[in-house]
Amino acid sequence: MDKNNSLKRYNTFGLDANARDIFRVRSISGLRKKLKDNDLVIYILGGGSNILLTGDVDSLVLKNELRGKSIVSRDAEGVKVAVRSGENWHQFVLWSLENGLAGLENLSLIPGTLGAAPIQNIGAYGVELKDIFEGLEAMNLETGKIHFFEKEECQFGYRDSIFKRELKGKYFITKIFLRLQDAEKAKVSVEYGAIRQILEGKNITQPTVKDVSNAVIEIRQSKLPDPKVLGNSGSFFKNPVVSKSHFLSVQQNFPDIVFYDLPDGTVKVPAGWLIEHAGWKGKRIGNTGSHARQALVLVNYGGATGAEIKALSDEIIASVKGKYDIALEREVNIW
Ligand SMILES: Cc1cc2nc3c(=O)[nH]c(=O)nc-3n(C[C@H](O)[C@H](O)[C@H](O)COP(=O)(O)OP(=O)(O)OC[C@H]3O[C@@H](n4cnc5c(N)ncnc54)[C@H](O)[C@@H]3O)c2cc1C
Repeated sequence: MDKNNSLKRYNTFGLDANARDIFRVRSISGLRKKLKDNDLVIYILGGGSNILLTGDVDSLVLKNELRGKSIVSRDAEGVKVAVRSGENWHQFVLWSLENGLAGLENLSLIPGTLGAAPIQNIGAYGVELKDIFEGLEAMNLETGKIHFFEKEECQFGYRDSIFKRELKGKYFITKIFLRLQDAEKAKVSVEYGAIRQILEGKNITQPTVKDVSNAVIEIRQSKLPDPKVLGNSGSFFKNPVVSKSHFLSVQQNFPDIVFYDLPDGTVKVPAGWLIEHAGWKGKRIGNTGSHARQALVLVNYGGATGAEIKALSDEIIASVKGKYDIALEREVNIW
């Protein structure tokens, strides 16, 4: 594999792997042309903050560098914004705040690109992409045609969309349309306890969306390891959702278990709690481990391989299954 095609600086785990070919996507026509000539398997890369490279990638890697964003229209229902998919998510959140727009503040400081946001319907502090999402454009990798997906077609769920299932690897998302609100008119409600605490600590009684964004940034910086310092890809696992009857049987043996009842009668259990109470928090194995402050985050202490991190995740899954009979699912995409 060509050492000039190293993916090391393109993934937040900082893992070393090479690709057969890397193509920087800077225009729709350039992408279409590249696809015409290509006969390799295709992988799409945004900011590399939600992938685990387990070896060299004997494929064409399309590195998304499509840039541009604009306000499309304003009406009684809000402000419609169009963004090309290679834009950086957090820079876009800051741009929206500077332009007096509300809706993205709780999603501040999530790494990665706009184009990857619909893939797992990114979410944080009670807000998910789907709450402000209108639609997207994506290129069919076989035909080169652009297709518009309505929100319903994306089939968003918890860290899930049709692009992780039936349409996995079939479309390159090129543009996203969001519906934001005028920050002056928007109702800023702070439902999340940790955000409220920070605002109260600063005596902010009538927070602006910028105040909420700053609080979210502060919490995230105190809780999550910075990938520039310690390689990681955020939460490695999803929070499992189980039936009420299954949950009650687990709770009999573990009365302290933390849980959230969901509207459909199922129960969500924080994966971090399960991993921590199965004894993994802060545990290091070789060059990898579960982070000391955040059990859900697996880290590369330096020199780890993707295979090592994958093996650790397998062990954690087996250990949680053995102790609680609950199946953990990986949030991170394995390459
Ligand atoms: C420190 C840290 C904190 C994080 N916190 C959160 C959080 O709070 N909430 C959350 O939801 N996530 C979080 N994440 C995960 C990650 O930031 C998101 O999943 C983000 O959307 C990934 O963007 P990316 O551009 O880096 O995607 P990549 O890692 O490059 O790609 C992820 C997947 O999307 C596919 N993909 C990427 N771009 C496109 C495209 N244009 N078209 C089609 N497919 C595409 C890739 O092929 C891959 O399968 C965190 C990660 C880190 C490192």
